[in-house]
Amino acid sequence: MRVLVISDIHANFVALESVIADARGQYDAVWCLGDVVGYGPMPNESAELVAELANHVVIGNHDWAVLDRPGIDVDDFNPMAREAVLWTRSVLTAQNRALLDSFPDIPVQPAETPYLLLTHASPRQPVWEYVQTPTIALENFACFDEKICLVGHTHKPAIYRWRLERAWEGVGNGEMTGAATVDHLPLRAEDVVFLDVSTEQRLILNPGSVGQPRDNDPRAAYALFDTEQMTWTLHRVAYPIDLTQSQMRAVHLPRRLIDRLNYGW
Ligand code: ZN
Repeated sequence: MRVLVISDIHANFVALESVIADARGQYDAVWCLGDVVGYGPMPNESAELVAELANHVVIGNHDWAVLDRPGIDVDDFNPMAREAVLWTRSVLTAQNRALLDSFPDIPVQPAETPYLLLTHASPRQPVWEYVQTPTIALENFACFDEKICLVGHTHKPAIYRWRLERAWEGVGNGEMTGAATVDHLPLRAEDVVFLDVSTEQRLILNPGSVGQPRDNDPRAAYALFDTEQMTWTLHRVAYPIDLTQSQMRAVHLPRRLIDRLNYGW
């Protein structure tokens, strides 16, 4: 099975359509790691297309805030994100609201891939925590048993590799001990990464953001995961950013949210 992995679309429908077109013919299933709405101008269209395409979707913190469920307070968001959440609430149809509400807020383990978990933020805190450093990744590897966990939320493509180094401690009848370490592996678009996993090597993978990348590359990000070859390939695709920006201007979303799309931040 070849899986198109998308995350953090943030109602940037133009970017989402560009990703789907770029990946056409290269996937058999779609997994979405959440934050379908928030920040961008086309929440209804984005929610409908994700629901139509995705085999698995988990809820993100912005989706949750738009639903106004207990547990996430929109006042904890920065003022621009908050403004976008309030605007999204005002335009989202009841049907699409129900759709967001149906996305699970706990990690999902697809039946096809029992060695893998999907979550928006982290295995430890599925909706809120940012896995942005090897230290935080290391703590999170202790919070799940599967070989691989896919996360979004940071809007930065990443691979964290956990390794258990076994060593004989002491002399003579010493004991076998294990110490776990985590590295943040370098990752370039279009490189095919072989996912070498075992009881001594596990991975946290982030496909980056479709609708609001934050790694200084404004192109939409997505990943293709081949479950037979066990490969992961990050892709970037240029999309008409000015079209999304004019849609944002038309509905008076904050200026800085419009401008940041140019910089990939
Ligand atoms: Zn997000």
